[in-house]
Amino acid sequence: MQGLMMNTPLMISSLIRHADRCHGDSEIVSRTLEGPIHRYTYRDAHLRARRLARALPRLGVEPEDRVATLAWNGYRHFELYYAVSGSGAIIHTINPRLFHDQLVYIVNDAEDRMVFFDLTFTPLVEKLAPLCPGVKHWVALTDRAHLPQSALPGLSCYEDLLAAESDDFEWPEFDENTASGLCYTSGTTGHPKGVLFSHRSTILHAFAIALPDAKNLRATSSVLAIVPMFHVNAWGIPYSAPMVGAKLVFPGAALDGASLYELLESEAVDSTSAVPTVWMNLLNYMTQNKLRFSTLKSSTIGGAACPPAMMKTLSEQFGVRVHHGWGMTEMSPVGTVNAPKGCHQGLSEEAKFQLALKQGRPLYGVEMKVVDGQGTELPRDGKSAGEVLVRGPWVLRRYYKDAGGNPLATDGWLPTGDVGTIDKDGYLQITDRSKDVIKSGGEWISSIELENIAVGHPSVAEAAVIGIRHPKWDERPLLIVVKRSDADLSKDEMLKFYEGKVAKWWLPDDVVFVDELPHTATGKLSKLTLREQFKDYRLPTC
Ligand code: ADP
Repeated sequence: MQGLMMNTPLMISSLIRHADRCHGDSEIVSRTLEGPIHRYTYRDAHLRARRLARALPRLGVEPEDRVATLAWNGYRHFELYYAVSGSGAIIHTINPRLFHDQLVYIVNDAEDRMVFFDLTFTPLVEKLAPLCPGVKHWVALTDRAHLPQSALPGLSCYEDLLAAESDDFEWPEFDENTASGLCYTSGTTGHPKGVLFSHRSTILHAFAIALPDAKNLRATSSVLAIVPMFHVNAWGIPYSAPMVGAKLVFPGAALDGASLYELLESEAVDSTSAVPTVWMNLLNYMTQNKLRFSTLKSSTIGGAACPPAMMKTLSEQFGVRVHHGWGMTEMSPVGTVNAPKGCHQGLSEEAKFQLALKQGRPLYGVEMKVVDGQGTELPRDGKSAGEVLVRGPWVLRRYYKDAGGNPLATDGWLPTGDVGTIDKDGYLQITDRSKDVIKSGGEWISSIELENIAVGHPSVAEAAVIGIRHPKWDERPLLIVVKRSDADLSKDEMLKFYEGKVAKWWLPDDVVFVDELPHTATGKLSKLTLREQFKDYRLPTC
């Protein structure tokens, strides 16, 4: 017997319609490239998104066509999120930090029909255009006064497109499993691969991250979306905020410490999300200028492991509670978020801190397990480390155009490429990426743990640990350190800092000081580049 409830499809457009009806006056605030701060409401955003949805078919966009963006976090990008997906096309958010060849590859692979771009990216799209003949329209996200002088084919002006449309548009309803968004992984090996989200997966993910033990979003929240909308949908914030009616703040291109701090203060932001590198710059700026937050209470940190020293500084000196989160593009992206449970209330402060360092519990909807090399599930004891596998309604089943073949294990779960443990309460702790873990004498050394310890030293700004070939042990750890400006730190002092913190055989065999470390297009340490740079390095123990 079937249930007798309505089969209303989960449509992305329903989020903005809901926000208009129930939170029409809630604000969306954006730092713009043209200069001034832009303010309007969900009601205004809904109106403009519908105008844009009317404009798209006039430019030849049909349902399921890919419409790309090369844009920072801002209100026009937000309108595109809703207009493109809401009208049945697919928004392809492009990460401008990818290499030029990768950009050409993904625009062509996605078969993008048009590209909406921020003014910053005019020189970039001028280079891309001749190599991307499938793109028929390049639309500058600006008004006529700021339209660049450019010979781009089919160049048009975003504000002109909107001005030409009337307001009467009703969002179409269609199958909730229809594709809504496309985002390519950064492709650390081989070509980037496309992850294709659906309306259903996006809405379910938006519900999950709004929950109290995740982002805890409410109509009274003010959220700064720091994570780029070009990389895994700013971790879902542009969908969850309208769902609950939260005030939404967009930083535009200004992601430096001073600009972020100013926005956090002026917009009374109480919640945000960012990768550790962004936080590192913000904290440096605040420390140098002896600043404090007046409203910020919490931040989700993820995308890379949050160093313990950063978590401590944030809570003890700045009053910001860190919720460590973990996920990946293939998971829309959030899989786990860390929040304590009732049973943890009696724990010592140190034990609570150790718990908070873990990557967190799976959101309802995500199932997780760790397996050994043979695919056998390991105990949930917080000790047995193995590859992490996931499944759930917002987890990838296949890549776009089946790139790379079937990514799933034989039992239908997705291998994440991350190594970790799960404890009896369901908390995941990532110890490494499977390709970064250092295999020494048949045992594994966690590069993340060694890096976390290094950045706990007051003279260390950033650190990376990679495995270097070793004739006896197979691989041994090499620590690569960027010192804080004007800090004085020797190799011996650095190694001494590890004493008592890890087993002796985990100690790095050598320390190298460098001026800077390479990062990927998503702001993470690029271990691939480092391994390449240090491929001929000879450890003193060899
Ligand atoms: P990419 O395109 O670089 O794969 P993703 O954002 O999809 O970008 O990266 C996902 C990966 O980032 C995960 O598989 C994991 O290795 C790493 N990661 C994400 N969050 C964390 C975290 N909190 N701690 C450690 N690693 C993390």
